[in-house]
Amino acid sequence: MTLRFDIVSLFPEMFASPFGDSIIQRAREEGLLDIRVHDLRDYSLNKHRKVDDAPFGGGVGMVINVEPVARVIAAIKKEVPETRTILLSPAGRPFDQKKAWELSRLPSLNLICGRYEGVDERVPRHFVDEEISIGDYVLTGGEIPAMVLVEAISRLVPGVLGDPASTAEESFTDGLLEYPQYTRPRDYQGFKVPEILVSGDHKKIRDWQKAEALKKTARVRPDLLKKNK
Ligand code: SAM
Repeated sequence: MTLRFDIVSLFPEMFASPFGDSIIQRAREEGLLDIRVHDLRDYSLNKHRKVDDAPFGGGVGMVINVEPVARVIAAIKKEVPETRTILLSPAGRPFDQKKAWELSRLPSLNLICGRYEGVDERVPRHFVDEEISIGDYVLTGGEIPAMVLVEAISRLVPGVLGDPASTAEESFTDGLLEYPQYTRPRDYQGFKVPEILVSGDHKKIRDWQKAEALKKTARVRPDLLKKNK
């Protein structure tokens, strides 16, 4: 199965490096991901390719017009009618691993990146399926949030990561943070690897990992335990 991403941005060149390297690039070459970036200006009807205007009612900055966004969404829907259209926005539902799993099972996602003071409110109200935020802070544009979604979702697509077990054991998958991991050397400046991990007793190691995942979550993210009760 191929997961298709259509990304709409005023700065399409920003995506070249993050999507042109490593796991994402390999997945594209293998046909597991199909990532297409669209320049919002190509959908402007203005002869200067303008896509923004001053806000009604006054206020600082510029707002992205509804028209080019509605037009690019319609053009992409024509090609991929089943696509889920998502606006990146600080006002969206916070993105998490559960959402990443849900979106990774869809055939196609259209990610709309805002800029300036954001987009005309008629876009989220009438033209997109949902709004997603990557956290309670404000970035300059939706490009980095779109990259965050592509990265988090892509690695859950079957075949993108070499070993599927790595996503099954990761933080948040079962509502807990991952257990602590160690590698060589066994002793670094007197800081030692827990004895149990080098005992060779797989059952005991597994029990230890489960207990440590719970302890670590309770210590640093008690909110996750409450959320999953
Ligand atoms: N005026 C808007 C507000 O106060 O909510 C902020 C607009 S922000 C400067 C410009 C664009 O960056 C937004 O339209 C959105 O696409 C993107 N953006 C900024 N912060 C984001 C976040 N936390 N999650 C997702 N997208 C974000």
